[in-house]
Amino acid sequence: KLHNQVQELKGNIRVFARVRPALAHESDSPDALADITYGDERTAAETGQSQITVTSRTESATGKEREQAANFVFDKIFQPMAGQKEVFEEISMLAQSVLDGYNVCIFAYGQTGSGKSWTMEGGQNDKDMGMIPRAIDMIFTVSSQLRDRGWKYQMEGQFLEVYNEVINDLLGSGQFDTKKHEIKHDKEGKMSVTDVVSVPLSNPRQVSTLLDRARSRRAVAATLMNERSSRSHSVFTLKVRGVNPLTEEKCEAMLNLVDLAGSERLASSGAGENKDRLKETININKSLSALADVIGALGTGQQGGHVPYRNSTLTRLLQTSLSGSSKTLMLCNLSPLAAHLGETLCSLRFATKVN
Ligand code: ADP
Repeated sequence: KLHNQVQELKGNIRVFARVRPALAHESDSPDALADITYGDERTAAETGQSQITVTSRTESATGKEREQAANFVFDKIFQPMAGQKEVFEEISMLAQSVLDGYNVCIFAYGQTGSGKSWTMEGGQNDKDMGMIPRAIDMIFTVSSQLRDRGWKYQMEGQFLEVYNEVINDLLGSGQFDTKKHEIKHDKEGKMSVTDVVSVPLSNPRQVSTLLDRARSRRAVAATLMNERSSRSHSVFTLKVRGVNPLTEEKCEAMLNLVDLAGSERLASSGAGENKDRLKETININKSLSALADVIGALGTGQQGGHVPYRNSTLTRLLQTSLSGSSKTLMLCNLSPLAAHLGETLCSLRFATKVN
């Protein structure tokens, strides 16, 4: 009960954090791991808020060790042993609400290597399936149940990438996307992107083909352009249109699952070495802070307040899905490694800002 009340008070924006496990080769030495502790789970269940504490140790000039603990509170925190299924259980209702006509955005935020792609796309085994295939599976299951009540749904999938503020279609034909894509608004204010492929989906298996196609596209670009996939935002969009001839109801909504570009700062991305990387980093910073500003403006919930969509391609692209009654989830991915502690703290601060 209490949990539901808290959720209602908080409106349509949720923030989760997920700490990935250390990989086999990463936990060789005992100080490889950062000092990360978690709040009591029972308190979290009662209040609907979980706490994470990160402790950093620095040595002063006199050789004295100083300890500094920073606490952060989120709607939900997943510890390293949490599997994909457990994470999806907390997202399932949100994703499903696209069938009720709600626009939904789910973002994975974090430094490169923190587990964003793992969370969104996941691994090849069924148990490792990420949030995109799980959400699609579930939406198909629920939509076929709703058929008994007269609902008929049409689904379409789109997969775009925003790199250096330019939109690329990850599902286009040929090796490269040579087309120029523009964001357009029609007379009714409905937004669309010009010249992008929209794949009609009639069963969930088609989605894995679609994800594979996008992945191979990005792999080609990555070998040519220095790990470009971690320097771009990828946006998977499921467009849902439903009609119910029995009740004469209609609905139309979008579910967006967004794997954001790595949030690491200039120094740790090695951007100092190269002009192209500097440009990438500036564009990433610009778009991530534009996103935080938009979510922040929506979170304050002021009716008619100004929401600064126009400051980046990503926020312009998602404008319809980030407004009014839309539902937003920011999933902050974190590395467990001591070497990444600085970035972990930055990510936690960013996520707190939109919370
Ligand atoms: P990012 O997309 O943020 O750059 P990845 O998703 O590629 O990061 O994750 C980095 C590495 O950690 C990959 O090898 C990935 O398979 C692994 N990994 C991330 N999260 C998990 C997890 N929850 N369980 C197991 N392995 C994970």
